[in-house]
Amino acid sequence: KDDIANTTAEATKTLDLTKEKDVGLMHRSLVELPYEVVSASGSYIHLSSGASILDGCAGAAVAIVGHGNKEVLAATVAQMEKVSYIHTASYVTSSAEDLANFILEVPPGGFQHGLEKAYFCGSGSEANDAALKLARQYFFEQGQPQRKWYVSRRQSYHGTSIASMSVSSNLPRRIPYQDILMPNVAFVSPAYAYHDQRATETEEEYAGRLIAELESEFQRIGPENIISFIAEPIVGATSGCVPAPKGYFTGVRQVCDKYGILLHLDEIMCGMGRTGTYFAFEQEDIQPDLVAIGKGLSGGYAPVSAVLISKKIVDVLKAGSAAFNHGHTYQSHPVTCATALAVQRIVRRENLIQRCALLGMLLEKMLIDAFSDCRFVGNIRGRGLFWGIEFVKDKATKETFAPSQHFGYNVQQKAFKLGLAVYPGAATVDGVRGDHVIVAPPLNISVVDLG
Ligand code: PLP
Repeated sequence: KDDIANTTAEATKTLDLTKEKDVGLMHRSLVELPYEVVSASGSYIHLSSGASILDGCAGAAVAIVGHGNKEVLAATVAQMEKVSYIHTASYVTSSAEDLANFILEVPPGGFQHGLEKAYFCGSGSEANDAALKLARQYFFEQGQPQRKWYVSRRQSYHGTSIASMSVSSNLPRRIPYQDILMPNVAFVSPAYAYHDQRATETEEEYAGRLIAELESEFQRIGPENIISFIAEPIVGATSGCVPAPKGYFTGVRQVCDKYGILLHLDEIMCGMGRTGTYFAFEQEDIQPDLVAIGKGLSGGYAPVSAVLISKKIVDVLKAGSAAFNHGHTYQSHPVTCATALAVQRIVRRENLIQRCALLGMLLEKMLIDAFSDCRFVGNIRGRGLFWGIEFVKDKATKETFAPSQHFGYNVQQKAFKLGLAVYPGAATVDGVRGDHVIVAPPLNISVVDLG
């Protein structure tokens, strides 16, 4: 541990602007360099300083089959040897078609998700943008151009583009752009039992209160003016793996149906098996209209994401303009699709989702046994291999740390110095709540490493 602490400490450098190598790349910080990674294999990342880090968060819940997988590499190279790029205005490759069919396929006895088509793009933000536009086009083609509003939740994150940021409430990321974001977005309360469920309320009653709030927001805007409601089934980076109370998404589905409003679920972080089922929404037994997926789709081996589109939307577009009025240069990219397909085949063949559900029970027990008595650990929650540990200053009152204390970031730094990567979130959303770290290792992490 001391060796790791020394080598990770050595690896922390301040940006040296006199060194040519440090000048060109726009890092996240303009004054600090991130750690340089020279290789990665399985659940470990190897730094140029010589330290090896256990990737306990798979990047940001991305690397579902770990790093350096040779089968994925071979599939990627094979596709490059066949064809590395085509423009989708005129062409398609079997890798994109096969990936769409593979991920939409419902295995015998599997969950009927009702999703019919996949639109592939490059990042989670692009997938949510595409879903926001698809939803608008769905109503436009039915002669309802007055539908201009999106409803989202506070303490949510859907991406970094202007549109996906507009429906997000990650305040630190929004602040400089607040005045240029889309104005036609309303926010309702997050489903956040740890902070908001009243002592006198059951889980079902709390869910009912949130649904009533959503419905009254729909009525305030006028439901005939609303396009969609967007939500993460299990909230990732803004709160730290927060599942909704039981019955919440069933109620959301009912209220959306009552007013003909589309339900757009963002499974970019929590989807593709991460929570122990293929989609997190399966656990609430609902069928969404649009689903955005990313991260685990290619497990980080290629930048690819998708919007999964229900039959209802496909049918309206087919009967109307017969096209999705969108289009990316790298849409359905042959190589990224081949890479993602290789990852998904491994997940299915090795039963990694079932494994995730089982290991998730073990992880839950280990986290609770190890940390629930810690002075500043307020709440431990999650599903599958997607767990958040939330920190508070006072466990009895749930008083939070000041945003400037960066508690989650400090925990991340300490863990890193001991050779473990966890993913931090700051207590800066809605002022104070949700100071956490996420534990989300590769789904094929060994039991020894998990321990
Ligand atoms: N939606 C959710 C739930 C996410 O967690 C993220 C990224 O963290 C995004 C959307 C945006 O994805 P990307 O960073 O690939 O654009």
